[in-house]
Amino acid sequence: MGTESLQVQVVRRAEDIYTPPPGEAPDAWDHVPPAERIILVMEQMSQRTWPRPAPEIAGQVLARIDAGRWTAQCPACDSAQAVTPVDPRMWCVECQPDTWIGVRFPENPEAAEATVADKPAAARFWWADDDPEAWTKPPASPPPEPTEKARRVQEQQDSRPPDPAPEEPPAEEPAEEGGA
Ligand SMILES: [Zn+2]
Repeated sequence: MGTESLQVQVVRRAEDIYTPPPGEAPDAWDHVPPAERIILVMEQMSQRTWPRPAPEIAGQVLARIDAGRWTAQCPACDSAQAVTPVDPRMWCVECQPDTWIGVRFPENPEAAEATVADKPAAARFWWADDDPEAWTKPPASPPPEPTEKARRVQEQQDSRPPDPAPEEPPAEEPAEEGGA
Protein backbone atom coordinates (compact mmCIF):
# COMPACT_ATOMS: atom_id res chain seq x y z
CA MET A 1 0.00 0.00 0.00
CA GLY A 2 1.42 3.39 -0.96
CA THR A 3 2.04 5.97 1.69
CA GLU A 4 0.21 8.56 -0.39
CA SER A 5 -3.06 6.98 0.74
CA LEU A 6 -2.27 8.28 4.23
CA GLN A 7 -2.30 11.85 3.02
CA VAL A 8 -4.86 13.97 4.84
CA GLN A 9 -7.39 15.51 2.48
CA VAL A 10 -7.94 19.24 2.82
CA VAL A 11 -11.45 18.75 1.45
CA ARG A 12 -13.02 15.33 1.57
CA ARG A 13 -14.58 13.96 -1.59
CA ALA A 14 -17.27 11.38 -2.29
CA GLU A 15 -14.69 8.61 -2.41
CA ASP A 16 -13.40 9.61 1.04
CA ILE A 17 -16.88 9.57 2.55
CA TYR A 18 -18.76 6.74 0.81
CA THR A 19 -16.49 3.86 1.72
CA PRO A 20 -16.93 0.12 2.29
CA PRO A 21 -18.30 -0.87 5.69
CA PRO A 22 -15.99 -2.12 8.42
CA GLY A 23 -15.02 -5.68 7.67
CA GLU A 24 -14.64 -5.10 3.95
CA ALA A 25 -11.34 -4.22 2.37
CA PRO A 26 -10.90 -0.44 2.11
CA ASP A 27 -10.35 -0.86 -1.63
CA ALA A 28 -13.35 -3.16 -2.15
CA TRP A 29 -15.24 -0.44 -4.03
CA ASP A 30 -12.34 0.84 -6.08
CA HIS A 31 -13.85 -0.67 -9.24
CA VAL A 32 -17.04 1.38 -8.76
CA PRO A 33 -17.03 4.93 -10.17
CA PRO A 34 -16.84 7.32 -7.18
CA ALA A 35 -20.16 9.05 -7.92
CA GLU A 36 -21.94 5.70 -7.71
CA ARG A 37 -20.58 4.68 -4.32
CA ILE A 38 -23.32 6.47 -2.41
CA ILE A 39 -25.69 3.92 -3.93
CA LEU A 40 -23.59 1.14 -2.40
CA VAL A 41 -23.80 2.90 0.96
CA MET A 42 -27.57 3.07 0.67
CA GLU A 43 -27.69 -0.61 -0.28
CA GLN A 44 -25.56 -1.46 2.74
CA MET A 45 -27.78 0.57 5.04
CA SER A 46 -31.06 -0.76 3.69
CA GLN A 47 -29.88 -4.30 2.94
CA ARG A 48 -31.55 -4.27 -0.44
CA THR A 49 -30.64 -3.60 -4.02
CA TRP A 50 -31.18 -0.05 -5.19
CA PRO A 51 -32.15 1.10 -8.66
CA ARG A 52 -29.55 2.70 -10.91
CA PRO A 53 -30.20 5.77 -13.07
CA ALA A 54 -29.75 5.72 -16.80
CA PRO A 55 -26.21 6.70 -17.78
CA GLU A 56 -27.34 9.99 -19.33
CA ILE A 57 -26.48 13.24 -17.61
CA ALA A 58 -29.20 15.89 -17.56
CA GLY A 59 -28.85 19.32 -16.03
CA GLN A 60 -26.14 20.72 -13.85
CA VAL A 61 -25.59 21.73 -10.25
CA LEU A 62 -22.67 23.60 -8.73
CA ALA A 63 -20.12 21.99 -6.47
CA ARG A 64 -19.45 23.68 -3.16
CA ILE A 65 -17.13 23.12 -0.28
CA ASP A 66 -19.30 22.67 2.79
CA ALA A 67 -17.55 22.21 6.13
CA GLY A 68 -14.58 20.55 4.51
CA ARG A 69 -16.45 18.36 2.03
CA TRP A 70 -17.23 18.76 -1.65
CA THR A 71 -21.01 18.74 -1.86
CA ALA A 72 -23.79 19.44 -4.32
CA GLN A 73 -27.47 20.03 -3.73
CA CYS A 74 -30.32 18.31 -5.52
CA PRO A 75 -32.28 20.93 -7.51
CA ALA A 76 -35.52 19.03 -6.90
CA CYS A 77 -35.46 18.27 -3.18
CA ASP A 78 -32.51 20.29 -1.83
CA SER A 79 -30.79 17.23 -0.39
CA ALA A 80 -27.04 17.58 -0.35
CA GLN A 81 -24.55 14.81 -0.82
CA ALA A 82 -20.82 14.47 -1.21
CA VAL A 83 -19.46 14.73 -4.75
CA THR A 84 -16.06 14.47 -6.36
CA PRO A 85 -14.23 16.30 -9.13
CA VAL A 86 -12.88 12.99 -10.46
CA ASP A 87 -16.43 11.84 -11.33
CA PRO A 88 -18.53 15.00 -11.53
CA ARG A 89 -22.01 13.50 -11.45
CA MET A 90 -24.69 13.30 -8.81
CA TRP A 91 -27.66 11.01 -8.41
CA CYS A 92 -30.00 12.11 -5.65
CA VAL A 93 -30.71 9.14 -3.42
CA GLU A 94 -33.76 10.93 -2.05
CA CYS A 95 -35.66 11.60 -5.30
CA GLN A 96 -34.01 8.84 -7.32
CA PRO A 97 -34.45 10.56 -10.68
CA ASP A 98 -34.12 8.73 -13.98
CA THR A 99 -30.80 10.27 -14.91
CA TRP A 100 -27.65 11.74 -13.44
CA ILE A 101 -27.14 15.44 -12.86
CA GLY A 102 -23.83 16.94 -13.91
CA VAL A 103 -21.81 18.64 -11.20
CA ARG A 104 -19.81 21.69 -12.19
CA PHE A 105 -16.52 21.97 -10.34
CA PRO A 106 -14.09 24.84 -10.65
CA GLU A 107 -11.51 24.38 -13.36
CA ASN A 108 -8.91 23.80 -10.69
CA PRO A 109 -10.49 22.10 -7.66
CA GLU A 110 -7.16 21.96 -5.86
CA ALA A 111 -6.88 25.76 -6.08
CA ALA A 112 -10.31 26.09 -4.45
CA GLU A 113 -9.23 23.65 -1.78
CA ALA A 114 -6.09 25.68 -1.19
CA THR A 115 -8.17 28.77 -0.37
CA VAL A 116 -9.63 26.99 2.66
CA ALA A 117 -6.65 24.89 3.68
CA ASP A 118 -5.60 27.19 6.54
CA LYS A 119 -8.97 26.92 8.26
CA PRO A 120 -10.19 24.16 10.53
CA ALA A 121 -12.14 21.51 8.59
CA ALA A 122 -15.51 22.67 9.93
CA ALA A 123 -14.81 26.21 8.70
CA ARG A 124 -13.82 25.26 5.16
CA PHE A 125 -16.38 26.74 2.79
CA TRP A 126 -16.17 27.66 -0.86
CA TRP A 127 -18.73 28.35 -3.55
CA ALA A 128 -18.58 29.42 -7.18
CA ASP A 129 -18.71 33.15 -7.88
CA ASP A 130 -21.91 32.66 -9.87
CA ASP A 131 -23.55 30.33 -7.37
CA PRO A 132 -27.02 31.87 -7.11
CA GLU A 133 -27.75 30.51 -3.68
CA ALA A 134 -24.70 30.02 -1.62
CA TRP A 135 -26.73 28.35 1.08
CA THR A 136 -23.63 27.00 2.70
CA LYS A 137 -22.10 30.44 2.98
CA PRO A 138 -21.50 31.17 6.63
CA PRO A 139 -22.96 34.52 7.71
CA ALA A 140 -20.29 37.10 6.95
CA SER A 141 -21.76 39.76 9.26
CA PRO A 142 -22.94 42.11 6.51
CA PRO A 143 -22.84 45.84 7.21
CA PRO A 144 -26.08 46.99 8.84
CA GLU A 145 -28.73 48.29 6.45
CA PRO A 146 -29.32 52.02 6.95
CA THR A 147 -32.77 52.66 8.29
CA GLU A 148 -35.27 54.56 6.16
CA LYS A 149 -34.91 57.62 8.37
CA ALA A 150 -31.14 57.56 8.26
CA ARG A 151 -31.29 57.26 4.48
CA ARG A 152 -33.53 60.33 4.20
CA VAL A 153 -31.26 62.38 6.46
CA GLN A 154 -28.32 61.25 4.40
CA GLU A 155 -30.01 62.27 1.16
CA GLN A 156 -30.95 65.68 2.52
CA GLN A 157 -27.61 66.72 3.87
CA ASP A 158 -25.21 64.86 1.70
CA SER A 159 -23.82 66.63 -1.34
CA ARG A 160 -20.89 64.30 -1.83
CA PRO A 161 -20.95 60.59 -2.57
CA PRO A 162 -21.04 58.46 0.57
CA ASP A 163 -17.78 57.03 1.73
CA PRO A 164 -17.35 53.43 0.77
CA ALA A 165 -17.42 51.09 3.71
CA PRO A 166 -13.86 50.45 4.79
CA GLU A 167 -12.74 46.96 4.02
CA GLU A 168 -11.29 45.27 6.99
CA PRO A 169 -8.36 43.04 6.23
CA PRO A 170 -8.58 39.57 7.77
CA ALA A 171 -7.02 39.42 11.20
CA GLU A 172 -3.45 38.38 10.77
CA GLU A 173 -1.87 37.57 14.05
CA PRO A 174 1.63 36.24 14.14
CA ALA A 175 1.53 32.55 14.93
CA GLU A 176 3.01 32.26 18.39
CA GLU A 177 2.13 28.90 19.71
CA GLY A 178 4.60 28.51 22.49
CA GLY A 179 7.68 27.87 20.46
CA ALA A 180 8.84 24.73 18.71
ZN1 LIG B 1 -33.43 15.04 -4.66
